[in-house]
Amino acid sequence: MSEFNNESVTSIETTLNDVDRALERLRSGTYRSCQVCGTAITDQELIANPLLANCPAHPELS
Ligand SMILES: [Zn+2]
Repeated sequence: MSEFNNESVTSIETTLNDVDRALERLRSGTYRSCQVCGTAITDQELIANPLLANCPAHPELS
């Protein structure tokens, strides 16, 4: 069993922030669009990563 440390907490916080942003995009109707260019994100890409915010041409900035 791996140790639960500050790094684990940071990772969880990052994930929660990503979820918050995804929910905000769902509410504003931009969930399926790239945040940079507005290109529609495909079902396959969203299945692979439901928190995906950008199209493959614009890898998500962290
Ligand atoms: Zn894009």
